[in-house]
Amino acid sequence: MSNRLFGCVEAGGTKFLCALADDRGLIGDRLRIPTTTPDETIGAVIRFFEEAQRHDGPLSAIGIASFGPIDRDTASPGWGAILNTPKPGWSGAPFASRIRDRFGVPVGFDTDVNGAAMAEAALGGLSGVTVYITVGTGIGGGVVVDGAPIDGVRHAEMGHLYAPRHPADDFAGHCPYHADCLEGMASGPAVLARWGHSLSELPQDHPAHDIVAHYLAHLCVALMATLSPHRIAFGGGVIDTPGLIDRVRAHARRYNADYLLPNDRFDGIIAPSSLDGEAGLHGALMLAKRALRA
Ligand code: ZN
Repeated sequence: MSNRLFGCVEAGGTKFLCALADDRGLIGDRLRIPTTTPDETIGAVIRFFEEAQRHDGPLSAIGIASFGPIDRDTASPGWGAILNTPKPGWSGAPFASRIRDRFGVPVGFDTDVNGAAMAEAALGGLSGVTVYITVGTGIGGGVVVDGAPIDGVRHAEMGHLYAPRHPADDFAGHCPYHADCLEGMASGPAVLARWGHSLSELPQDHPAHDIVAHYLAHLCVALMATLSPHRIAFGGGVIDTPGLIDRVRAHARRYNADYLLPNDRFDGIIAPSSLDGEAGLHGALMLAKRALRA
């Protein structure tokens, strides 16, 4: 069992990361590929795995944790494609299907955040409902129940929920589709467009910290009201800002008002991700293993 080799791809909007894994976890060097055109970028992924197979032997399965939106429905003729995205050239691009056709092994394909939620649950030994939220160039969320992603008509897009506007915030919003949805108000680019700096560059007494925490806390309360998760794990570049998780907890306590569950329990459910900045690759490994079991 321990000689199985897995290919892992974290597909992001600005870069792809490729790595190998065995049954114990990620191994070897990561390859970083800039996200340019589908042909160039996917071509580089294919070459990485061809080279890996020459050196290390055959891959048992490949997992791809991707930016969205994607067609993750294994019963769909369009499975494996990137759907409508503002990223030039990528709308409709076959991606996982191309990798599967080239290597002829099971390929697990899901959103980066569903993969990360699977990894968060597995590595943290969490049962029940686990949500993973990334706050970076966008805001996205994945949900797993007892380790498996929920199979809806497509996949969750909780970064595009609307939250009540912070009373001190007159920013028009940065989402190309909805302007002032959560992603439009609290993602990294929304912070940069509003205040000219990333959140971690702004002094701790700058109002930006409370404004961003306000939006993320509303997301936590919305999740608690709809899914009642056991864990809401936050990852992504913006979350590394010192003090931000505590501010999110403080606002969530206020908006929860001891109602959905006691405030002190809510505090413990909101937590930084334990995946140490490699959520995408850990998620890809989970997706590869799941594809092999399917
Ligand atoms: Zn939006």
